[in-house]
Amino acid sequence: LTIGIPTEVVVGERRLCVVPDVVRKYRELGAQLLMQSGAGVSAHLGDDMFADVRFAASAGEVFAAADVVLCVQPPRTESIAAMKPGSVLLGLLQPWSSEERVRLFMERGITAFAMELLPRISRAQSMDILSSQGAVAGYECALIAADHSPKFFPMLTYAAGTIRPAKVLVIGAGVAGLQAIATARRIGAMVEAYDVRPETREQIESLGAKFIDTGVAAAGAGGYARELTEEEKAQQAERLAKAIAQCDALITTAAIPGRRAPRIVTAAMLARMKPGAVVVDMAAESGGNVEGTVAGEKVWIDDVLVIGPTHIASRMPIHASEMIAKNLFNFIAPFIKDGALALDWGDEVIAGSCLTHNGEVRHAGVRQALG
Ligand code: NAD
Repeated sequence: LTIGIPTEVVVGERRLCVVPDVVRKYRELGAQLLMQSGAGVSAHLGDDMFADVRFAASAGEVFAAADVVLCVQPPRTESIAAMKPGSVLLGLLQPWSSEERVRLFMERGITAFAMELLPRISRAQSMDILSSQGAVAGYECALIAADHSPKFFPMLTYAAGTIRPAKVLVIGAGVAGLQAIATARRIGAMVEAYDVRPETREQIESLGAKFIDTGVAAAGAGGYARELTEEEKAQQAERLAKAIAQCDALITTAAIPGRRAPRIVTAAMLARMKPGAVVVDMAAESGGNVEGTVAGEKVWIDDVLVIGPTHIASRMPIHASEMIAKNLFNFIAPFIKDGALALDWGDEVIAGSCLTHNGEVRHAGVRQALG
């Protein structure tokens, strides 16, 4: 079994899908590793750090020879077209973003596993890239907010008095939001948080933050949030506007799988924020939770700085790569025996994460979206 590791091609992507320790584990299962030379450089993982790996000079060589290709983000069209029929592709494949890519997987007979589709059940937690990278992103967003704030986050006593701690508001308390809350708390800020899923109250409070109750509860399928109705949006906006006006830093992380990010913070709400306040919109890449966010930019809206960071997890590629490498290994390793891959289609995790197999779209939601 040859496992291929190509260089990531998305601009701004610095993470790699393997790290040396995990390569060793694949070798113990009898797999051969074929890596594109230099693939790990952006994650500070030089070729010389990988033992027992063959290196290829080009991406084409890796895609053409591998039985299983691991990636962080989707490969280029020509690379997918070079894959062997029946081979496996595993990574964050953005199943909702490109119909053309899904059709190419089908045409080429590729068994594609999109880790975004991973069932969110307890057994799959160790394979969950969205969660591991959400934690990285949440941590980073809190640091970005602290770095750009003209105020201290912690309470600070100095010879002439005491500085009050900054007030941080986190909207969206999923994996990323909870990590943003925890990080802002560790730096010493006073934190308030809000999510439409009522079960987040306990999680928010356990981190020492205050839950904002808007009276809107919108738990949807699979442990995710659902889209709000117009009345619910109005009710949420009214209650949140006050907390937004009072905070020094606002971090938004709200998302609905496969949809544009919900627009929660309006221009009118921004206009009421304190001078010097900082907004970090983690949802910038999927349309933004904040009106006026520009993905990849920092914009001043009056005296409020609105930051739309992109490729957030790539800001710490060493640990982010380690997490992804372990997640992917935990997903595929149980099906590698004596150097061969034998997928169990009765396995809930395998079946649930499969985007395409044998020329068909296997995921019902994606099939429906394709029409
Ligand atoms: P996500 O990235 O899809 O969304 C982020 C947060 O935004 C969610 O908490 C969601 O409720 C919230 N949100 C959506 N619309 C909103 C709105 N209008 N206003 C405010 N908040 C809004 O979510 P995620 O962090 O990837 O996961 C969601 C939850 O799934 C987790 O918190 C966890 O409970 C569960 N989960 C379970 C497993 C598992 O059991 N294997 C793994 C990961 C996550």
